[in-house]
Amino acid sequence: MIIILKKDIADTDKAKIKKHLKDNGYIVKEIVGKEETVFGAVGLSRLDPRSIELMEGVSKVIPISKPYKLASRELKKEDTIVKLKNVSIGGNRIAVIAGPCAVESEEQIMRIAKKVRDAGAVILRGGAYKPRTSPYSFQGLGEEGLRLLKKAGDAYGLPITSEVVSPKDVPVMSKYVDMFQIGARNMQNFELLKEVGKTGMPVLLKRGLSATIEEWLMAAEYLMASGTDQVVLCERGIRTFEKATRNTLDCSAIPVVQKLTHLPVIGDPSHATGIRDMVSPMALSLIAGGASGIMVEVHDHPECALSDGPQSLLPEQFEKLMRDIEALCPVVNKALEKIPRFVPSTIKEDSAALTDKAEDIVAFQGERGAFSELAVRMLFSEEEKVKPCETFRAVFDALRKKEVKYGVIPVENTLGGTIYENIDLLRLHKDVRVAGEIQVRIIHNLIVNKGVKSEDIRKIYSHPQGLAQCKEYLDRHFERADRIPFFDTAGAVTYIKKEKMMDAAAIAGSPAAKYNDMEILATGIETDPKNYTRFYVISMQDNLEEFLSRGKPDMAAMSITVADESGSLLKVLEIFKKNNMNMKKLESRPILGRPWEYSLFIEVEFEKASVLYSCLDDIKAETTSFVLHGVFEKNH
Ligand code: PEP
Ligand code: MN
Repeated sequence: MIIILKKDIADTDKAKIKKHLKDNGYIVKEIVGKEETVFGAVGLSRLDPRSIELMEGVSKVIPISKPYKLASRELKKEDTIVKLKNVSIGGNRIAVIAGPCAVESEEQIMRIAKKVRDAGAVILRGGAYKPRTSPYSFQGLGEEGLRLLKKAGDAYGLPITSEVVSPKDVPVMSKYVDMFQIGARNMQNFELLKEVGKTGMPVLLKRGLSATIEEWLMAAEYLMASGTDQVVLCERGIRTFEKATRNTLDCSAIPVVQKLTHLPVIGDPSHATGIRDMVSPMALSLIAGGASGIMVEVHDHPECALSDGPQSLLPEQFEKLMRDIEALCPVVNKALEKIPRFVPSTIKEDSAALTDKAEDIVAFQGERGAFSELAVRMLFSEEEKVKPCETFRAVFDALRKKEVKYGVIPVENTLGGTIYENIDLLRLHKDVRVAGEIQVRIIHNLIVNKGVKSEDIRKIYSHPQGLAQCKEYLDRHFERADRIPFFDTAGAVTYIKKEKMMDAAAIAGSPAAKYNDMEILATGIETDPKNYTRFYVISMQDNLEEFLSRGKPDMAAMSITVADESGSLLKVLEIFKKNNMNMKKLESRPILGRPWEYSLFIEVEFEKASVLYSCLDDIKAETTSFVLHGVFEKNH
């Protein structure tokens, strides 16, 4: 049952309820959500829910209708994010797990680890205990395989996962792996599930060869009831009458399961198809279907692989797949998980070096649930502390006063163009650096207070851009409703909620509806679905060298002024051309106090940051002023 606690419950009452439940044989999980705190209580005994409802501090008791309880969305509405060191699986991110089917030798795992890491995988896989169909097939290197896998993971900064096949191996495996893998053949090996669950460690739970979704979730329940809440589900194909592929990938399981559980769901297109050329298209379809990541087998000499060679991607195929995934991410409004993640705040030893005393908070403009906050969640983490600011200027001020460590500001929208105020603020505050970027797909929703129906709507509130971007939908369905401009989209949602308007709707992103506990009447109502906003991450980080070592910087933002004479800008452009740098953006902005003089805001793309640094002096020589706002990794 779900016990919803009153907002102002005293700690002593909370402890009393917990003790009462535990004394009666229940497992109790406290779940602190954005809206409410609940106790999830599961167990064999049956207390009368009404007796719990009468206890001090309890607001309501709701039974869980599904047979799986701890794994159910009914119990926990927010997505669970599973953490392996500094890598997260779930929420707004796509995590890619890659590696060979089995660890075969030190050289093999080292080579492949480097290749998958360079291409962008964040977790290394490799079997050490292989459950093979034939007893005469390679059975894995056992503990030696785990040692080698860990060595490779450590060498390339990748957390590792490997399959556990027997309860007796659990203690030794827990010393090596960051996440246990339960294979398809063991999904209902309940003794194994209990033993692994007891460790409290992350577990990747494959779907059984012929398991229903409910049986799969019941297996997750076993793990959770035994002591872990870090479970990742993995669809890997099921057995059907079809023989063209090794198994039949059940893509529809992804959205179905994601609705039923808060646990992240990923897909394994390698074991699902068994055919190398089918792996990449199916990986993309899994992600398009809402998977939080994929697990793929990669081998640099698949013809000699000791297991699953025919389904292993070649490293160059894997690289191509990673690029395709990166291109697909913004369509499903997710960010590709990277190592190191952009977010040093979760890596404690780094954060001190990055921004001395600034607080561990990210500032953005707008209300909670704004698209800017979505950008923060995609780049940083779901739990990152945020500071919503009223204006863009306030974001810059919070940074400069060291109230926050980072700011996230929009710079450009594919329909609306450049957000000039922000590039002007960058010019004004030369100490603020651009440290990274991300793009967010803008999906608009028609949001109303609970109970409001389409026919009740007389007024529609949103940012003028939001109203303009949904014009076709509004003309078609709400021709007679007033369109009322508001200062921001999420703000419009809060406003109609606060005023309890039963004749109004607001247009905003779905997180705004979630934060305000409101209803979405229609989603994807924007006229042009190719609607993206690009955001900059800004920081007070002066030590660029330190930052550069983190990613692969291939873009720079700068402002220049050039002499008021013929051909002066051309000379700068020639330097770009000579160094093979591609200019992505050029904006001319008036200079305050100097009528008819302009500053040029430029973005260039290059192969390596050293190319830019080698020609900085040449650029300076051809300009009358030059500010490098930042060098960062392109992410759009
Ligand atoms: C594996 O991932 O190594 C594996 C054996 O997969 P499955 O359990 O899905 O067959
Ligand atoms: Mn395999």
